[in-house]
Amino acid sequence: MPRVTRKAGARSAPARKRVKRLAATKIRKANRHKKPSGLESTVKSWFDEDGIPCKTEFPIGSNPVCHADFLLGKRTVLELHGCHWHAHDLCVKSPLKWQQERRRKDAARYRFFRDQGFDVVVIWECEVVQEPNRVRAMLRAIAANKGK
Ligand SMILES: [Zn+2]
Repeated sequence: MPRVTRKAGARSAPARKRVKRLAATKIRKANRHKKPSGLESTVKSWFDEDGIPCKTEFPIGSNPVCHADFLLGKRTVLELHGCHWHAHDLCVKSPLKWQQERRRKDAARYRFFRDQGFDVVVIWECEVVQEPNRVRAMLRAIAANKGK
């Protein structure tokens, strides 16, 4: 028994470090490898049909690099957020702890993009679902404005 305890103790320090490292890179990795969600596919198809050029998963900054969901023109970041996962304040009235944390992280992302000189537009899932025509018209207007 004592020997087992000592063995576990000897391994714990590097294991802790490894967990920390993974946590630090988690957001960027998840972003880089993520497949487009249904929401993103919908909006991408609007851009395609309306002839609006955009880049998806566009890397911004260096060390750290953040990937914007969409880049319109040269300087407008468009973030598309699921209301549950990103804890939309109009849809999630009593956010759980992880949702509050998500809000903080998203706010830090917007700040990061703005610090790099980008405008940030956030579009919520509920808007895309409930008012697709309004959102689509707004995106057209933004693209017409920013494309120059
Ligand atoms: Zn919402």
